[in-house]
Amino acid sequence: MRLLLVEDDRMIGESLVRGLGDDGYHVDWVRDGAAASAALANGHAGGDGGFALVLLDWGLPRQDGLSVLKELRARHSLVPVLMITARDAVSDRIEGLDAGADDYLVKPFALAELKARIRSLLRRQEARATAEIVHGGLVVDPVRHEVRLHDNRVALTPREFSLLRVLISRPGVIHSRAQLEQSLYGWNEAIESNVIEVIIHTVRRKLGAAIIENVRGVGWRIGQAP
Ligand code: CA
Repeated sequence: MRLLLVEDDRMIGESLVRGLGDDGYHVDWVRDGAAASAALANGHAGGDGGFALVLLDWGLPRQDGLSVLKELRARHSLVPVLMITARDAVSDRIEGLDAGADDYLVKPFALAELKARIRSLLRRQEARATAEIVHGGLVVDPVRHEVRLHDNRVALTPREFSLLRVLISRPGVIHSRAQLEQSLYGWNEAIESNVIEVIIHTVRRKLGAAIIENVRGVGWRIGQAP
């Protein structure tokens, strides 16, 4: 699960990358508002950079966090945003929440509390995405991370699951290799040139060749319902 951390304080940033990494999150870290806007605008899924959640500091060089947030919401992105800030005046909190923040944490805070709030936001997000995505005889359950084909459970690796979920969430939409790589991998991860093809190959082997349709020269989309 990829999170975007926007934080200009090196010590806080390093400790969050390490602490959240311990819980299995992949954290991409940028240190100013302009870089955050670029990372988020770069996305395909609602203009959120493919991130599952954004941790956003308010006071940032080049562009402040509130303005980053307003831009993100102006693009109708629903990605959960947790603002982390030293500003604890009630009026600041209200301004942040009204601008589209989902939660607000005041520095200094305990890592354990931040983790609990992240879990809570992701849980809410999963619930809103409806429990199960049904495509004919194929059911993808994002909450339990389960896939069933004609009521038989099929074991997928986390990457296979992510790829299938990306495709099935937007039927008919063709996803390019770059878009799929962005959804599945963080910036710092080395990506083999044919990795998407390899994952598609194994998903097809488990769920049938027709489950993913290749549109030559463009990309892939979910195939006809099994
Ligand atoms: Ca700051």
